[in-house]
Amino acid sequence: QPLLSVRDLVVRYGSTTAVDGVSFDIHAGETVGLVGPSGCGKSSTAAAILQLRRPHSGEVRFDDVDLTALSERQLRPIRPRLQPVFQDPYGSLSPRRRIQDQIAEPLRLHGRWSHPAGPRRVAELLDMTGLNPALGSRFPHELSGGQCQRAGIARALANTPQLLILDEPISALDASLRAGILNLLLDLQDSLGLSYLFISHDLTAVRHLSNRTLTMHDGRIGG
Ligand code: ADP
Ligand code: ADP
Repeated sequence: QPLLSVRDLVVRYGSTTAVDGVSFDIHAGETVGLVGPSGCGKSSTAAAILQLRRPHSGEVRFDDVDLTALSERQLRPIRPRLQPVFQDPYGSLSPRRRIQDQIAEPLRLHGRWSHPAGPRRVAELLDMTGLNPALGSRFPHELSGGQCQRAGIARALANTPQLLILDEPISALDASLRAGILNLLLDLQDSLGLSYLFISHDLTAVRHLSNRTLTMHDGRIGG
């Protein structure tokens, strides 16, 4: 049974149909790549899977539970298990809070914060994502783009997710930093058994990471 099963997904913005009947599965430990030109509906697919934007129709089965049928309250305990990582490393972190507090936030939110286990977990997450522990007390603008993206990944990992929805996670980074993030993702997958939906317009990166690649065009998957 797949970890994620997307069936006949439709996302609309007013009269625009951004996702037009998309279906695919992701199995445990698998990376599925999603490529396609700008505006073809990749981010809308990601947002609908995460239930950040409720789809017009279709099913998003995660561990055999249709997320589209759940209320926000019912989604709460499930959200930590599928986590997004977005393109803009600065934009996805709050500018006014220290890195260590942002990584701790999902732990607090889900009642998993205590002393000394909480701070120890934050230190572990910094280490897992290749960040020097001293960076924890800094603010996002005091980190490089690559370091910020690692912090975003650390935060996504805080509550031990099974699936990461990676929406252009390397696109905003300098070419020299991209391989580092890709290798980090590969290492984390090896050590944690994670599954990924890897959205990128960088076909080389997608082929490097993915077991299977889906190509999207005008809201549909084909080819
Ligand atoms: P991609 O991620 O592949 O670039 P998107 O999912 O962002 O594609 O966009 C798919 C289509 O939906 C595009 O035509 C885009 O203009 C439109 N769209 C995306 N977000 C919105 C929005 N918030 N309001 C209206 N239209 C949107
Ligand atoms: P690196 O290549 O070292 O990962 P970047 O090229 O992304 O870092 O950015 C270089 C420097 O510019 C960083 O140290 C960062 O502080 C700053 N910077 C880049 N983008 C932003 C941004 N959107 N907001 C704030 N600071 C930024």
